[in-house]
Amino acid sequence: CGSKEGAPSADTEAPAQTEGAENEEAPAADTTGGKTWIVAMDTVFPPFEFTNESGEFVGIDVDLLKAIAEDQGFEYEIQSVGFDAALAAVEAGQADALLAGASITEERINNGWIFSDGYYNATQTFAVAAGSEIKSFEDLAGKNVAVKNGTEGKTFAESIKDEYGFTISVFEDSPNMYQDVIGGNSAACVEDTPIMEASIKTGNVALEIPEGMTNEGAAYGFGIKDEANQVLLDMFNAGLKSIRENGTYDEIIAKYVN
Ligand code: GLN
Repeated sequence: CGSKEGAPSADTEAPAQTEGAENEEAPAADTTGGKTWIVAMDTVFPPFEFTNESGEFVGIDVDLLKAIAEDQGFEYEIQSVGFDAALAAVEAGQADALLAGASITEERINNGWIFSDGYYNATQTFAVAAGSEIKSFEDLAGKNVAVKNGTEGKTFAESIKDEYGFTISVFEDSPNMYQDVIGGNSAACVEDTPIMEASIKTGNVALEIPEGMTNEGAAYGFGIKDEANQVLLDMFNAGLKSIRENGTYDEIIAKYVN
């Protein structure tokens, strides 16, 4: 249903590569037909993207993208490479877009990122080992804090490290960052609050969130760098609006957050 009259081909089941298509005539003004958009994601960032017990890559970002692509009729491929690598892939034009719980910030916009409408609000928070004595920023004096490369958590820690006298170590993914705190090398780490809460809740991450060690936060957005991908951003916004209206968005959130 919903296939447009005069659409050049039924591209829903077409494989990704359809170069040198049979039809030599120029396709109609279909800007996305046949294109498979590459979307870069984080690796371990539950409940937004993570590998479940059955070995499937799932999460809010994964389900939102699927629902939005279905609604808008575009094809995509996920590249789960890690947050900093995802930023770099989009910057280098190796991926078309970023969907990785990426916070919409002034700094990123000033650096040329173009974001969709926000789809989820999140703050960043410090987290400490379960049972730790650290209860405030002041307690971090002379200690080390683990952060994840490219993230707002890193920016947050950097913005206050001189004031409170702590040092920083940078990790490429969340599990290694947590492990540095659990293993006692770092006194704290900085993570997005919904991710830290979800990871603690599973019981697999022996960390806790002290009160009041949180920043202002921002909305997550789907991001592009190349203006040529504006058509994809527009489809994301239109699809997001549509799945907010038809209840799919709420179903996806309810499936992963409770
Ligand atoms: N929301 C944070 C940011 O945008 C962290 C994202 C992530 O680690 N996937 O920097």
